[in-house]
Amino acid sequence: MPEGDSVWRVASQLHKALSGQKLTGTDFRVPRFATLNLAGWTVEEVVPRGKHLLMRVQGPDDQKLTIHSHLKMEGAWQVYPPGGRWRKPGFTARCVLRTAAADAVGFSLGIVEVVRTADEDSIVGHLGPDLLGAGWDPAEAERRIRAAPDVPIGVALLDQRNLAGIGNIYRCEACFLSGVHPASPISAVPDLRTLMTDAKQLLEANLGPGRRVTVLNPRGMPVGRMAGRAGHWVYGREHQPCLKCRTPIRRGVLGKPGGEEERNIYFCPQCQPLLS
Ligand SMILES: [Zn+2]
Repeated sequence: MPEGDSVWRVASQLHKALSGQKLTGTDFRVPRFATLNLAGWTVEEVVPRGKHLLMRVQGPDDQKLTIHSHLKMEGAWQVYPPGGRWRKPGFTARCVLRTAAADAVGFSLGIVEVVRTADEDSIVGHLGPDLLGAGWDPAEAERRIRAAPDVPIGVALLDQRNLAGIGNIYRCEACFLSGVHPASPISAVPDLRTLMTDAKQLLEANLGPGRRVTVLNPRGMPVGRMAGRAGHWVYGREHQPCLKCRTPIRRGVLGKPGGEEERNIYFCPQCQPLLS
């Protein structure tokens, strides 16, 4: 699963390359839309919503459609000069959009579909408040999360119906910053608002180019030189010393066994006691 910051960056790159451009050719390599041709339509904007990408296009008679895509595990959008050589295998392309200025190719996308823009809610209407959206509403996100007090905080943070934009990296990092074991139930988390604010600040700090770094300091925690090199507080650092207390970081699994939400968690057993 991508993190919200990756989707935000992709949307911004696609928007820069395509907005205002007339499509000269389109190729939807998914059965349902294989015959759809949007040549002559104009790309109005590309916007992220949680982990979903929405490309809004305008056609004749002011018709408006939205090309909806989701990167899921392996997906990627790349922008090339017109006719440029692709850096990924052609058979993995799921959507090709050509303009006079650039070609955009979506590879291995988890979802590609086209809906009327007026019907976008059928795709993203279920999402909770967007951590990177203009209308971020922490009270509403907290209300949704607290509605299921027995759910582990680490599971609730990944549930995009609660709040949109957090993937596995940010949920692990935000739980660490709050000193909360990700398996702790919601009811035991004392300050959900601060935890969400930390996640939002880490996401926002990673909207620019370059490697993702979450060893940042939203709340006065000292960040040493070694910490900066580590990149993350706990994510992906099994057996390595905790940047705060030197205890080896542990890895575990959270979520229903075999379920879609079953994912690795990383935590410091010393700094993040299991609350109950
Ligand atoms: Zn620690």
